[in-house]
Amino acid sequence: MAAADDASPSPKKPSPKKNPADKAAEPAGSRTPSRNFIQQIIDADRAAGKNDGRVHTRFPPEPNGYLHIGHAKSICLNFGLANEYGGKFNLRFDDTNPVKEEQEYVDAIIDDVHWLGGEWEDRLFHASDYFEQLYEWAVQLIKAGKAYVCDLNAEQMREYRGTLKEPGKNSPHRDRTVDENLKLLEEMRAGKYPDGSRTLRAKIDMASPNLNMRDPVMYRIKHAHHQRTGDAWCIYPSYDYTHGQSDSIEGITHSICTLEFENHRPLYDWFCRELGIHHPQQIEFARLNLTYTVMSKRKLLELVRDRHVAGWDDPRMPTIRGLRRRGFTAEAIRAFCERIGVAKFNSTIDMGWLEDAVREDLNERAPRAMAVLRPLKVVLTNVPADKTIMVEAPNHPQKPELGTRQIPLTREVYIEQDDFMEDAPKKFFRLKPGGEVRLRAAGIISCDEVIKDAAGNVTELRGTFDDDHSRKVKGTIHWVSAKHALTTDVRLYDRLFNVPDPDDVPEGGTFLDHLNPDSIAVIQDAKLEPSLANAAPGDQFQFERVGYFYADPVDSQPGQPVFNRTVTLRDSWAKAAGK
Ligand code: ATP
Ligand code: MG
Repeated sequence: MAAADDASPSPKKPSPKKNPADKAAEPAGSRTPSRNFIQQIIDADRAAGKNDGRVHTRFPPEPNGYLHIGHAKSICLNFGLANEYGGKFNLRFDDTNPVKEEQEYVDAIIDDVHWLGGEWEDRLFHASDYFEQLYEWAVQLIKAGKAYVCDLNAEQMREYRGTLKEPGKNSPHRDRTVDENLKLLEEMRAGKYPDGSRTLRAKIDMASPNLNMRDPVMYRIKHAHHQRTGDAWCIYPSYDYTHGQSDSIEGITHSICTLEFENHRPLYDWFCRELGIHHPQQIEFARLNLTYTVMSKRKLLELVRDRHVAGWDDPRMPTIRGLRRRGFTAEAIRAFCERIGVAKFNSTIDMGWLEDAVREDLNERAPRAMAVLRPLKVVLTNVPADKTIMVEAPNHPQKPELGTRQIPLTREVYIEQDDFMEDAPKKFFRLKPGGEVRLRAAGIISCDEVIKDAAGNVTELRGTFDDDHSRKVKGTIHWVSAKHALTTDVRLYDRLFNVPDPDDVPEGGTFLDHLNPDSIAVIQDAKLEPSLANAAPGDQFQFERVGYFYADPVDSQPGQPVFNRTVTLRDSWAKAAGK
């Protein structure tokens, strides 16, 4: 229940917060947004006539997990740029590791990118589409003396690689002849050797200060079934050997990725240069980190696998699946991504920003309804038991075009337990003994009598109803007719972790230590206004004074929707943190 005593029926517009990460992060509309550094690079490239002025971006997920809000940032950025410059956007699966990749992830990613608004037209690609081409290029590099087959195992390779302080050592197989290398690679492909026994490596520089340039692996032997190419291959190209050339094949102009790939760039450049192929410009930006959640795929998988959450689409997960099931809208996520901007330095964005974006969007679009989560019965003694009074309520206080609805009022109504206080302080403007409060859209009720059980708990109130709309009383509360109420499950979701940085754990601890035990509360006897029985799966409402809710698409039944709380009306966490 919202704690505010003013009992105001509609949420305050969230106040813009300062994002410490980036000046470009001020809320849209507060000023003309300046060009971010990526736009500046693209502007300059276009002015210089590079790529004939074309802009072609892509989103390149590896199908080894579900997408999360960080990926959403990348999708919005890449698709947004293509859109802005009248360019093109590709969706490409970097599916080079058959052991960790699954069709289930591929399907979910396609669906999520689409849902977010990403439009790739007929340009859905897979790095595995390029396996043959990549192989031919490997042969080309061998012939040019730029690649060799190496027999060192993984451990030996680590030893030979050296460290940041010490140069590496050349592999004893580095000087194999071209013919020998060609023969060995062919045999590797033909399945002659066991997993891990040989690799194909680029011949670059074992003394390079950049470890990625110390003869990186191009191919590994892996007798594994690939979800697309089946058993056609038993050698698989490394991500680093695949990614840049895939971009090149697709004619990508600006290959936007996160900062950790900055020191892979020289390698991608090296491959394109040695092969003499189209050279996309790689641009790195800071990945999105959010407070009160984790974003590493490994940790998300752990949460699912060990049943800390109900699945990838658990409404508490930062996955796009989870956010969707929570009731977050694509519009809100896009607005959030736009607002936080792009930065060159890693930082962490306050979860409140994402929630505010959702509130703002839902405030506009969600029709209002009344729902009592923790009911307290009030008997209106002057209303006859068989009488139903229909009252008219607006569906949206600021949008008359959304119309009105009729709500029944009867002798017995439910109000929130919190909206009654026996020993109320002076500023409590809701119901108290001898006091009056307005029932939203209906009229004024009094509290004349308080009924208690043997233990002294309040079980019922008695009072009278007055349909006078002109008289002034300070508080307005929501209510539901007991006779007509829809009783259903309402699930109150909250943040999954109870600290801003769940990864900050002392020795021996784990991020799981910070799981918020109150991240879900299921209320089974919530009393909802009867019109909500018609809510279709996926419908969204503002339950007045309570929050924004989403009719769960999985668990709702016809006539019996189940509601997920998307977000509260106010940021109670900011308040708790003293912000
Ligand atoms: P991993 O490579 O460890 O499996 P990943 O999160 O990088 O995990 P990818 O599928 O490779 O997953 O990511 C696809 C794209 O999304 C990449 O371009 C990556 O840079 C981008 N991306 C991933 N996480 C974030 C994030 N938190 N913020 C912004 N972009 C991200
Ligand atoms: Mg990655």
